[in-house]
Amino acid sequence: MAKEKNRLEADVVIAGSGPGGCAIALDLSKRGKKVIMLEKGMDNKLLFGNPLGMITHSDFRVRLPMPVRKTIEGEDLILGNGVGGGTLMYAGSAFLPDLPYWEEVGIEIPQDIIEETVKDTWATLPPDEFIGQGTRRVWTVAKELGYPFEKCMRHVDFEKCVPGCEICCEGCPPKRDAKWTGAVMAHEAEEHGTTILTNVKVNHITIDNGKATGVKARGILGKRGEDYEVYAPMVICAAGGVGTAMILKNSGFPRAGNWFAGDPTTFIFGFLPPGQRGNGGEHNMTVGFYDEEHHIVFCAMLSPYIAWHLQYVGSEGVKALSKLTKWRRGLGLFAKVSDHGVGRVFADGKVSNTFTDADWDRIEYGRSVGREILVKAGCDPYDIHTTPLTLGHPSATVRVGELIDSNLESKDVKNLFCCDTSITPGAPGRPPALTITALGRRLARYLTENKRV
Ligand SMILES: Cc1cc2nc3c(=O)[nH]c(=O)nc-3n(C[C@H](O)[C@H](O)[C@H](O)COP(=O)(O)OP(=O)(O)OC[C@H]3O[C@@H](n4cnc5c(N)ncnc54)[C@H](O)[C@@H]3O)c2cc1C
Repeated sequence: MAKEKNRLEADVVIAGSGPGGCAIALDLSKRGKKVIMLEKGMDNKLLFGNPLGMITHSDFRVRLPMPVRKTIEGEDLILGNGVGGGTLMYAGSAFLPDLPYWEEVGIEIPQDIIEETVKDTWATLPPDEFIGQGTRRVWTVAKELGYPFEKCMRHVDFEKCVPGCEICCEGCPPKRDAKWTGAVMAHEAEEHGTTILTNVKVNHITIDNGKATGVKARGILGKRGEDYEVYAPMVICAAGGVGTAMILKNSGFPRAGNWFAGDPTTFIFGFLPPGQRGNGGEHNMTVGFYDEEHHIVFCAMLSPYIAWHLQYVGSEGVKALSKLTKWRRGLGLFAKVSDHGVGRVFADGKVSNTFTDADWDRIEYGRSVGREILVKAGCDPYDIHTTPLTLGHPSATVRVGELIDSNLESKDVKNLFCCDTSITPGAPGRPPALTITALGRRLARYLTENKRV
């Protein structure tokens, strides 16, 4: 009986609700298609605006100081979990797609789609009052040193946000609701008829005669033990760099996850003299620059209060304890470097990621630029700190050109598409949420214009 109840049909089934999936659900349901989207996480704002918000909306692991996943080699790997995916607790930084990067693999992203996505994801430059004193100091000094920092777009409605708010990564507090997430599109899609099933984890895609025919999934948490079969002539994976690789592996694609890339990130911070304020407690990532030559994104940012303490103690242990009162004087920035993609996702879900010598050169270059800026900004040169790497933007696990073609369709199975960071040809380099959302819209347009759905 229970099995009967969970047998569903749709025109399109979407596995995972990363921002690409949310955009597709919205655009296809607006065009009258019946869409079902399955998400293993929840759809709520539980503990948003609290440091625990990151834990309730990421793949939680019992481990200190950061209770998130790690790669086998030990880098933190934070994976979003819930309707909207990683955008629920992303930092909200908006970078336009790197068009030449995508054109190299045959993907053109039409300008009208980019413009529409910028508008619909609330991407905008921060007003002056959101650029704090410490951030301005980093900005001025960086420019003096020849690093062309400038204002960076943010997925933030600045009419709702308040200057000094620094907690995007904890989930924007529900009363403020100033940060765009994929859930905004998902909820609009629901208004147009999309069905979203939460706490349902897709296991594999059903394939018949070389064509995708649906997915099989199992409920978790409150739905534990319930099985779901969704029949649909079109299947789209939007389960993220790791999630999509796992679904494809379980569906008879052994090569899924044979590649892995990311954007390892180091935070660099120092301390200004007593009496001076750093950039702790200032709106994050309002200024920065993308260093094309070295493939590094630099942005001014000191982690929010609790996260900074965990980061500092996590990287330096007891040595950090005597300095924990200095957060107000802390001045920081981060360097996000794109790696060369030497890694993989294993069948048990574990992730391995290693770096080439060239990756290490760039990571160390990023750290040295950070140090140079902080020292010139007035930080004590004997007290500059760099954190271990957090592996941002886990991606490139199914790769356009390898398992996926430039329409984002599987090369081996018809009517199976992927639209998330798993498809990137290498490390994304720039923060990818806007690009993935735009690719979702591009895919929805392709499917309807070519009468594929
Ligand atoms: C802390 C942090 C800060 C970030 N800051 C920025 C930023 O400032 N700017 C930016 O552009 N990007 C940022 N990102 C990255 C950004 O969030 C992601 O690139 C973006 O969400 C796109 O990811 P995705 O499409 O790969 O899917 P994801 O966002 O990872 O979503 C995948 C979804 O699928 C679900 N899922 C996985 N497996 C299954 C399954 N088997 N069945 C059902 N559901 C499943 C997951 O629970 C998740 O909700 C940040 C990420 C993190 C973690």
